Amino acid sequence: MIESKIKQTVRDIADFPKPGIVFKDITPILKDGVLCREITEALAAQLLDVKVDVVVGIESRGFLFGMLLAQTLQVPFVPIRKAGKLPFKTIKQPCNLEYGSAVLEVHEDALLPGQKVLIHDDLLATGGTVVAAAKLVKMLGAEVAGFSFIIGLDFLKGKERLAEGNAPIFTLASY
Ligand code: 5GP
Repeated sequence: MIESKIKQTVRDIADFPKPGIVFKDITPILKDGVLCREITEALAAQLLDVKVDVVVGIESRGFLFGMLLAQTLQVPFVPIRKAGKLPFKTIKQPCNLEYGSAVLEVHEDALLPGQKVLIHDDLLATGGTVVAAAKLVKMLGAEVAGFSFIIGLDFLKGKERLAEGNAPIFTLASY
């Protein structure tokens, strides 16, 4: 039900941001307040058996539902950003992306040792982004309790890459 609503609403953009890439544009979801609430509730419902102390969201689309999810779970939200955006002292981790590479950063005081962290992003493609995010979480002494996405591009095998870490992986719509 939620999966078909998401699929009906997300639109495919050919050749963005590079020729040959078909980009899943989630911005039409944001225009539908009821669907945004349903997605947030569905993301939270997947976590009933998962202890989550903190939601970490990845810049920038991971902030949108990451913060809503943290509010619903009544836990803190921590942003992971691309290099050079966070103002306080940070730790860094490079990552390889579906199209290019980047460096991710988190504030060095963002997490406490032992905290159970849910890593959220809008979409799982190759998994390069969240693998780097998980490394940052672990560098701060926290634990990855799970990975949560609105969309999984299963044909890019990101789930297989993440499965090595044994944390559960949740998606609402798969392609
Ligand atoms: P990965 O690191 O898993 O290869 O790529 C996932 C990251 O790239 C996420 O941060 C996601 O926001 C972004 N991304 C890659 N492809 C798409 C896409 O088709 N649509 C959207 N919305 N984000 C994408």
